[in-house]
Amino acid sequence: MRRISHWVSGKPWEGSSGRVGPVFDPARGTQQGEVGLASAEDVGVAVAAAREAFAGWAATPVTRRQRVMFSFRELVERHRLDLARLITSEHGKTIEDALGEVQRGLEVVEFCCGIPHLQKGEFSEQVSSGVDTYSVRQPLGVCVGITPFNFPAMVPMWMFPVAVACGNSFVLKPSEKDPSASLLLAELLGEAGLPDGVFNVVHGDKEAVDALLTHPEVAAVSFVGSTPIARYIYSTASAAGKRVQALGGAKNHMVVLPDADMELAADAAVSAGYGSAGERCMAISVVVAVGDAADRLIPAMVDRIHQLKVGPGDVDGVHMGPLVTREHRDKVASYITTGVEQGAELVVDGRGLTVPDHQDGFYLGPTLFDRVTPAMSIYTDEIFGPVLSVVRVDTYPQAVELINNNPYGNGTAIFTNDGGAARTFQTDIQIGMVGINLPIPVPLSFYSFGGWKHSLYGDHAIYGPDGIHFYTRQKTIIARWPHPSHHGVNLGFPQNG
Ligand code: NAD
Repeated sequence: MRRISHWVSGKPWEGSSGRVGPVFDPARGTQQGEVGLASAEDVGVAVAAAREAFAGWAATPVTRRQRVMFSFRELVERHRLDLARLITSEHGKTIEDALGEVQRGLEVVEFCCGIPHLQKGEFSEQVSSGVDTYSVRQPLGVCVGITPFNFPAMVPMWMFPVAVACGNSFVLKPSEKDPSASLLLAELLGEAGLPDGVFNVVHGDKEAVDALLTHPEVAAVSFVGSTPIARYIYSTASAAGKRVQALGGAKNHMVVLPDADMELAADAAVSAGYGSAGERCMAISVVVAVGDAADRLIPAMVDRIHQLKVGPGDVDGVHMGPLVTREHRDKVASYITTGVEQGAELVVDGRGLTVPDHQDGFYLGPTLFDRVTPAMSIYTDEIFGPVLSVVRVDTYPQAVELINNNPYGNGTAIFTNDGGAARTFQTDIQIGMVGINLPIPVPLSFYSFGGWKHSLYGDHAIYGPDGIHFYTRQKTIIARWPHPSHHGVNLGFPQNG
């Protein structure tokens, strides 16, 4: 059985815990490998390697760090299909979707190729006689990234390129469900010229995470995952004195006004609801149909849902792959049962789907509920699977109130042909990322990604300008180089001018 090891000081490393976890092939429902699960001692070895590499890397000229980013960019580009195949084999998403994930990660690397500009400080000349003030942005030290299963390449690439370009060293703890993409990225970083120890990977579960959160040599923690764990990471790591950004889960609503282009809205709802089998933090999980919109929208959605082909992610023509594990598939399917029990109208039922020659794969068909109410658990809970709910409301203010009362605040979208309504929505809505006639408003790499409310704990969103701020701290220097004629003791309090 394939053994997936850690990556420390520029090479694979077995660790000493003796504990392993299964890695599945979700398309076939079989175990394809086992991943080492780090102990606190193993974590200590990885952090020590990162700590040792930090001083040299932080002192490396910014132009050299930039060149490593350019080389890494070329290598990821060259290996994009290899990365996509690894992602598909362990996560289950289609190759096309996995290629999209690699592309979005690559864009963050491209942003980081501008690090000499991005890390510039500020300068004010002659703030007093012979006195100048300037600020510099310095790296923090050893930074940690803890990432979810649903984007095994992209989410790590939201973090480590920015951290490393700024002069930090990094320890990544990827999801133990799909750990292999992180190792290929580690190999490519080495090939790009990153010194050994600047980037390390430890696999593991809560034991490894807890050791990272409290390790005295760790300066900062970036986390992306579910809200309960994000809250735990934020409170534990900040109590231990770390800088923390912890991105959590989501329940993303798409508002459809009666004047919207219903064909466009149906395309968007089906693509954003079922893409990656709904295992996206920016997936649409609730369609809020205003007025009579649902009567025209739902038939158009049903037509499209019936055309979706579910199967192994590496087969041409498949739109939706399996879910990541059997346990997760069964949990998502149980929500469908609960939705029916709680009185929602099941329009399309994805249960009981079998994929020829892949009967044991972790599949679930696309599922659509109508007449969902905010009290039902299919509305309140993040399901993270191909289950889409339609909530009907009479008016636009009711749609806004519903969304603003939701504890999550990651993404939302409005579909309308009324520019004034869209503009009002962008002002009124209490959500971090807003799409107008676009269902998945993920910011490009030169903006920052982050939700509001229980979708993000901390003061910094991820990548983009916030990423540079998160991975550096500002130092302000006030320097006096007096004119040679200005000598003499003065015991008065310094006055500017
Ligand atoms: P998860 O919270 O279960 O796991 C995320 C990471 O935390 C993994 O590395 C895991 O090993 C670790 N972890 C799990 N349980 C832990 C515990 N008890 N103590 C310490 N560490 C623990 O999330 P997941 O199931 O891998 O990913 C799906 C979730 O991630 C969804 O909720 C989704 O919305 C969210 N997500 C959010 C964003 C965003 O940008 N806001 C992006 C992607 C995914």
